[in-house]
Amino acid sequence: MSDSEGEDYLFKVVIIGDSAVGKSNLLSRYARNEFNMNSKATIGVEFQTQSIDIDGREIKAQIWDTAGQERFRAVTSAYYRGAVGALIVYDITRRTTFNSVSRWLEELNTHSDTTVAKMLVGNKSDLNNIRDVSVEEGKTLAEENGLFFMETSALDSTNVKIAFDMVIREIYVTVS
Ligand code: GDP
Ligand code: MG
Repeated sequence: MSDSEGEDYLFKVVIIGDSAVGKSNLLSRYARNEFNMNSKATIGVEFQTQSIDIDGREIKAQIWDTAGQERFRAVTSAYYRGAVGALIVYDITRRTTFNSVSRWLEELNTHSDTTVAKMLVGNKSDLNNIRDVSVEEGKTLAEENGLFFMETSALDSTNVKIAFDMVIREIYVTVS
């Protein structure tokens, strides 16, 4: 059997959301099973490539992380270009980051196709005791905007793999 059997898939997925919601740690947890307590230690890598198996096929996802430019509202159109999946992340302990979701969605819609697979992610579910946004509110916002929804914790790993894999699987279903 040759290597060339079947097609190769490479999907670009972007992670967006306010500063310090845990975007970089979600990616490092997913791609390398690493977590950083100190956000400043997060290195602004451009993207990480992760392979997952779907229907016996190797699907590669190129997952893009901002290098902190969201602090200056300067995420460029190049960041979104060619994206077929997106995770829009907020921090369940900070309502302001939840209120920003609609703005991030607008920006995403401006710069990309409507067919982008989107997942709303409420991160830091390990901090349930200081929660500021309810699960219901997250679910409702997701439903209103036709997004998948999941609460995650990059710290204790809850739902991180599931969230990324679900987006990648949805893209695959759409294009295959
Ligand atoms: P980014 O600016 O969105 O990329 O956020 P970072 O990944 O740099 O994380 C910002 C801060 O939140 C860091 O101090 C992380 O250690 C912390 N953090 C990220 N994810 C979680 C999480 O799931 N739970 C908790 N408790 N802290 C988190
Ligand atoms: Mg970051």
